[in-house]
Amino acid sequence: MFKRILIANRGECAIRIIRACSELDIESVAVYSEPDSHALHVKKADQAVLIGPDPVKSYLNIHRIVDIALKMKCDAIHPGYGFLSENSDFAEAVIKAGIGYIGPSADAIANMGSKTAARTAMLAAGVPCIPGTEASLTSSDEALQVAKEMGYPVMLKAAAGGGGRGIRRCDTDEEVIENYAMTQREAMAAFGNDELFMEKCILEPRHIEFQILADSHGHIVHLFERDCSIQRRNQKLIEIAPSNYISQELRERMGAVAVQAAKAVNYVNAGTVEFLVDKNHDFFFMEMNTRLQVEHTITEAITGVDIVSQQIRIAAGEALPFTQEEVSFKGHAIEFRINAEDPQNGFFPTPGRITRYYSPGGPGVRVDGCVSSGYEIPPHYDSMCAKLTIWAPTWEHAVTRSQRALNEYDIRGVKTTLPFYRNIAQSDVFLAGQFDTGFMEQYPELLNYKAFEAREDIAAAVAVAIAVHAGL
Ligand code: ADP
Ligand code: ADP
Ligand code: MG
Repeated sequence: MFKRILIANRGECAIRIIRACSELDIESVAVYSEPDSHALHVKKADQAVLIGPDPVKSYLNIHRIVDIALKMKCDAIHPGYGFLSENSDFAEAVIKAGIGYIGPSADAIANMGSKTAARTAMLAAGVPCIPGTEASLTSSDEALQVAKEMGYPVMLKAAAGGGGRGIRRCDTDEEVIENYAMTQREAMAAFGNDELFMEKCILEPRHIEFQILADSHGHIVHLFERDCSIQRRNQKLIEIAPSNYISQELRERMGAVAVQAAKAVNYVNAGTVEFLVDKNHDFFFMEMNTRLQVEHTITEAITGVDIVSQQIRIAAGEALPFTQEEVSFKGHAIEFRINAEDPQNGFFPTPGRITRYYSPGGPGVRVDGCVSSGYEIPPHYDSMCAKLTIWAPTWEHAVTRSQRALNEYDIRGVKTTLPFYRNIAQSDVFLAGQFDTGFMEQYPELLNYKAFEAREDIAAAVAVAIAVHAGL
């Protein structure tokens, strides 16, 4: 087993990995940018090393991170999610330096990282894909021609896309022409790659993904599905496991296809195969994420498997401790991404100082966070500051428990997605448990709530100022 692991990430993701290391009796080494000097992951790790002054580029500095790992005598690196987690050059540099990489091979990352390359590999493996182009588009004229052949609506998508960016629906010829250049520009800015392809737009789709674990001895299992249909602008907000939409029979079929997809690219370690399921319950491969996923916590809640520990064990060469027949799930789990964003202002990020932070607890409540009272959320990073994961034996109980935990949760000083989630958790449409990716547009009234009382906020801010002044 590894003795010391470097965590090439920040925030709640780094803390999640530090926790796994601690339980496995492995030392953790955090890395950080200058603005993160007081971040929680820096305090929680056994050791911490400054990468450099730049808030974002620091966490993307392959050479420097590998160098720190060598100097600190780390025998493995965990990339987390975001940042370098889907960068095959990073995986390759780590392996070349003689350090273990806690993730799949550089080849698997490269093959699945490009959505067009992944489609080609999946079609060859007999996996049903969303109808679309295999090669990338070369011009808006070609895009127009493909759209006419495919029939509207279509989706223009960035081959290198991620995080919901670089995806645009087009309903008319004009929209294809208009969106082509725009999507290209967005893809170039976000991913440094402006390759686009086109897919048929699946109507009223459910985003249903399967968690995969594969060891280096040829065993692959899936840990069932997560339904991530509650999204905004193609970005996940709330995820549930299991899905209320698919039958046991469909679950088994989709799970088998997910395993088949992973096998086709000789996949090792944790990964996620994402599908869209349409209103006829037909399912289509959409993409594979070759890393740990933000929403892995709901799978942990229903299966009892510690996915991050398994990632580390797999990278260390251990065999999976269970077979497909031996994994099962129990109850229902819901994850709420607590983002420092103002839902009533287009989910605009709200960095700033947290004046009061009370996290919920009690049965079936898990909080993965990186913020506390007095913490200043920096403006440079993803706005997710905590994840609330609820588990209960039944769906109805998971919903009432969510209401209870969301009411206990109190974050002041910055606006967050909390009051919006309270509305969702209390709505009949959420309790019904059936939603597609159009949920947010369908129920705009869920955005109607009163933000917290300004007076209480000022009181909390004064309390923090006094505490800071008194050196508490
Ligand atoms: P998940 O399915 O794990 O929720 P997300 O797409 O939400 O995946 O991405 C997880 C994290 O990684 C988020 O912080 C997101 O902003 C970031 N991310 C995902 N893909 C990319 C990418 N290609 N480039 C930069 N950041 C990304
Ligand atoms: P990312 O890499 O950003 O996660 P995905 O390809 O996984 O991109 O798509 C993200 C989301 O965009 C999906 O969960 C879905 O809501 C929407 N989407 C993507 N492709 C399609 C499609 N062909 N039809 C309908 N919705 C789509
Ligand atoms: Mg995706």
